[in-house]
Amino acid sequence: MLTLLLQREKEAVVLVSLGNCKDCGKLHLATTSIYCKECMSKQAKLSQAIRSFLTSHPGATVMDVQREMGVPLRKVLEYQRG
Ligand SMILES: [Zn+2]
Repeated sequence: MLTLLLQREKEAVVLVSLGNCKDCGKLHLATTSIYCKECMSKQAKLSQAIRSFLTSHPGATVMDVQREMGVPLRKVLEYQRG
């Protein structure tokens, strides 16, 4: 009974500190972000690219961004929020 309890506690610790990346689904330490490090830097770069695209195309819509950058609409919106 005690062993089971300890094991359960251990599992709980693992569940708290690990998470699946919201983007690629890879298991990573979820203490700082819902994204893994790779996707974080990917997201930062894309977010920057989207911002500069919008700066040079003030009237652009999300659909334009999607077409120009080749990024799925869902991701454009996610990165815009972030
Ligand atoms: Zn990821």
